[in-house]
Amino acid sequence: MVTLPELHFVMVPHLAQGHIIPMVDVARLIAARGPRVTVVTTPVNAARNRATVDGARRAGLPLDLVELPLSGPQHGLPEGIETVDQLTGHELGMFLSFFHATWNLAGPLEEYIRALPRLPVCLVADMCNPWTAAVCERLGIPRLVMHCPSAYFQLAVNCLTAHGVYDRVDEMEPFEVPGFPVRAVGTKATFRGFFQYPGVEKEYRDTIDAETTADGLLFNTFRGIEGTFLDAYAAALGKKTWAVGPTCASSTMADDADSKAGRGKPADVDAGHIVSWLDARPPASVLYVSFGSISQLTAKQFAKLARGLEASGQPFVWAIKEAKADAAVRALLDEEGFEARVKDRALLVRGWAPQVTILSHPAVGGFLTHCGWNGTLETLSLGVPTLTWPTIADQFCSEQLLVDVLGVGVRSGAKLPTWYLPTEAEGVQVESGDVEKAVAELMGDTPEAATRRSRAKELAAKARTAMEEGGSSYSDLTDMIRYVSELSTKRSFVIDAMPFAAAELGSNK
Ligand code: UDP
Repeated sequence: MVTLPELHFVMVPHLAQGHIIPMVDVARLIAARGPRVTVVTTPVNAARNRATVDGARRAGLPLDLVELPLSGPQHGLPEGIETVDQLTGHELGMFLSFFHATWNLAGPLEEYIRALPRLPVCLVADMCNPWTAAVCERLGIPRLVMHCPSAYFQLAVNCLTAHGVYDRVDEMEPFEVPGFPVRAVGTKATFRGFFQYPGVEKEYRDTIDAETTADGLLFNTFRGIEGTFLDAYAAALGKKTWAVGPTCASSTMADDADSKAGRGKPADVDAGHIVSWLDARPPASVLYVSFGSISQLTAKQFAKLARGLEASGQPFVWAIKEAKADAAVRALLDEEGFEARVKDRALLVRGWAPQVTILSHPAVGGFLTHCGWNGTLETLSLGVPTLTWPTIADQFCSEQLLVDVLGVGVRSGAKLPTWYLPTEAEGVQVESGDVEKAVAELMGDTPEAATRRSRAKELAAKARTAMEEGGSSYSDLTDMIRYVSELSTKRSFVIDAMPFAAAELGSNK
């Protein structure tokens, strides 16, 4: 007789902050339902997330973090790079080299799983980890792919590919996305899928194949904002698809001050200091500014943004990761006197900011964001309207969702990915005056601004409801756990009927 396998999930995030954060969140949510969950990552990433995982363990959740070495061919990268934000350049080639280097984890992952007393019930792999497909196939483990961008983005890319649009338009030629549930206009430059670049056709095929052969797809989103896009994507791929977010809106996360403040890695500033600073400000008066973990502006564009924020007269908190390594940025802040000039109404965070703590504060009334999907979900979950400034990848789609579909954003005017910017303009797309105008529009008292605010509050309430027991994301997570445990049991029957295979795998019974 076959016993039900122990419910043990292994999660394999891509090595980037915007991917590890939601994967650790999903790991916590699964563990909160009973299954044991192990997040497998490299030492640098494990160290960054250790406090969050330890906090969850102290709260009684069966959650572990396992470190695997990232050794092997470096593909031209400097030694010791274990996460995308450690890359010094942001050319596409660098990202690809890093992507290739992560394939070195396949061997250690397989060894780790083979050494377990029982096989996991399921492996959840980031879409950027197609190398996990062969590992799971060899071990006979169900595998889910987790998408870290929006369903809006994934569906748009799918529609453009299916209709052959990428093959027939020029890079900057505007087109309407065919077969899409809403009217969406873009260019190849702003609507490219991950790995849809000339020269990386094999990598692109690998990710598509790994998705096609997966047992289901997970999205960090909720049906209240993306139901139409999710259903269309599930239908296009013929796959079970679950929306289990926004993870940051679950009460386990929202009520845990420490994990909010140390999300992704410990903050470079005392969260208590920021909270006291915000406590002294009127409700909804402060603009929070952040470009996430990897997006960067050129030096000229950075200076224009600084001047625009200064001229706006608005109080702001600005998370400036560049202040750690970029001498030009430090010169602007220090020698050129920017920080001294704005110190009465601005707080500059040099490095990693406790973003969710900041966005949760009632004094924050707007978020100037690069539209990374996690930041987008955080601002939506917390009811904060946005000033959108996309820079790369799926961010242009998140901007459309925020501004055109959900009605909670104002555009900065950035139109091109940073890697397409003409050098003669030194990367400037948004002038200081545009920044000043957009900040006034977002934070002002017009009827349009009031509508955006109340719309944002409504969506935040929907996000929280989705994560509560009985909500759509709560139910999707329940369904996913049930589905993979049944699938795993069925596969156990098959393995049982194949004694040699079972012996080779190390039986999980
Ligand atoms: N984040 C943070 N502090 C920072 C910058 C980013 O906590 O100073 C978090 C942010 O809350 C979000 C993630 O890092 O959860 C960034 O993910 P996102 O998808 O928004 O952008 P990416 O960094 O992937 O471009």
